Amino acid sequence: MEILTIELGPFATNAFLLWNDGGNDAVLFDAPPGAEDTLPNVLSERGLELTDVYLTHGHWDHFSGLPQLESASIGTWLHPEDRILVEKPELAASYVPPGLPMRPARIDHDLHHGQKLEILGQPCEVRHVPGHCPGNVLFYFKQQNFAITGDAIFAGSIGRTDLPGGDFPTLEKAIREQIYTLPESTKLLPGHGPQTSVAQEKGSNPFVRPA
Ligand SMILES: [Zn+2]
Repeated sequence: MEILTIELGPFATNAFLLWNDGGNDAVLFDAPPGAEDTLPNVLSERGLELTDVYLTHGHWDHFSGLPQLESASIGTWLHPEDRILVEKPELAASYVPPGLPMRPARIDHDLHHGQKLEILGQPCEVRHVPGHCPGNVLFYFKQQNFAITGDAIFAGSIGRTDLPGGDFPTLEKAIREQIYTLPESTKLLPGHGPQTSVAQEKGSNPFVRPA
């Protein structure tokens, strides 16, 4: 499986494009602002077609490229507890740089904890990791040994918990139970900044220590 990290938007949000070598289908994890300009070229250069967009959570910097990418042939996925943030983005307007577009996006499919997806022919487990916001999920590709974690955890840091719906004890519990329980060698691909691993964060993340 090929993974391309594309950093986009005023908050340097990571989007991840996945495809199989030799295949035509591609899936995108998060659609930051600017994805609508960058992604068509990235896809056409590689002969890829986008089939689905999976959102790690409903914050503006992770979905606001989606409305212009959407077409009837692209499936969109999000945890229901963040659905209101995407369908009524004006509710979060005071947390977004002024003057930027606040278009709602269409969500086709709910994600839930424990869901087993098949993505590009590979099994993928959904885990609910709330606390940064109510609906943050991670996508765990066991066979490929990586997880796309949204804004739950970063290399040496964690997601902020001062936005609406954020709560530190909830995030701490979710990181311990849903991230620190993954195999230590699991690569973590966060929503901002460089990739890390379960071993690295369990060993040195100063905000959430293993229980
Ligand atoms: Zn966020």
